[in-house]
Amino acid sequence: MMELSVLLERLKMDHLLTQLDGVCAQAAKGDLDYQGFLAQALEAEWRGRQQRGIESRLRLARFPWIKTLDQFDFEFQPSLDRKVVRELAGVTFVERAENVVLLGPPGVGKTHLAIALGIKAVEASCSVLFLTFESLMGRLVRARHENRLERTLQQLAYPRLLILDELGYLPLTREEASLFFRLLVRRYERGSLMVTSNKSFADWGEVFNDHVLATAILDRLLHHATTLNIKGESYRLREKKKAGLLGRRSVTAAEEVTTDAST
Ligand code: ADP
Ligand code: MG
Repeated sequence: MMELSVLLERLKMDHLLTQLDGVCAQAAKGDLDYQGFLAQALEAEWRGRQQRGIESRLRLARFPWIKTLDQFDFEFQPSLDRKVVRELAGVTFVERAENVVLLGPPGVGKTHLAIALGIKAVEASCSVLFLTFESLMGRLVRARHENRLERTLQQLAYPRLLILDELGYLPLTREEASLFFRLLVRRYERGSLMVTSNKSFADWGEVFNDHVLATAILDRLLHHATTLNIKGESYRLREKKKAGLLGRRSVTAAEEVTTDAST
């Protein structure tokens, strides 16, 4: 018979290999039959692989920071339908290649929710990529100028969930808008898009610098989509108000945008 450690190594069961003593000690205490022991041992290996998969997908997702749904205070945002968020957290929208649009003014938690739902998708074994619109556009425009647009579109079509944050802070050029449309067509009904924006749909014509294109974009984006419209107050300002940093002076939207970069 082959040595157990050699077998585990050849089968690439390195999680079980490192946990072998613990698993055996546990089994001895637990009074398990052969099947029970085998199940426990294999489960140790499987859990290790799951965990490693989550960690590697988390790295590949390139979230700018990590926030979870548990850290989201729904009491503070009563306009947000908890049931819908809970439904999205089940990640079936990614399995069905449906889209999610998060709308609302700065500071209401759009990015927080996008990251939190992205983490749920990562935990459910989906590949995720997080990009700001700005970096997406930089990437697409550069790719076109360097004659490798096709390859870049292909890379961006790969993740099961592509999160595009902050549509609308910077107006897009026509070239950028048409590049975005090509990406949308590429992913249509094949992979999920999650878009956050501070602009309502009515303003997307201006954001994309082209009303006809904006209509075509909205048509595809919203065909299979959940839209969350967050109408509440900025969470950042609430924290500043609490800390007494804001006097009676009111804060304009522009100032809010500049604080955005700091989070
Ligand atoms: P937006 O993307 O809508 O501008 P963010 O998601 O960046 O807003 O939220 C701003 C900050 O406030 C982040 O640190 C976020 O974690 C926090 N935040 C926003 N809304 C909530 C909330 N309801 N509960 C807890 N933290 C929140
Ligand atoms: Mg944001």
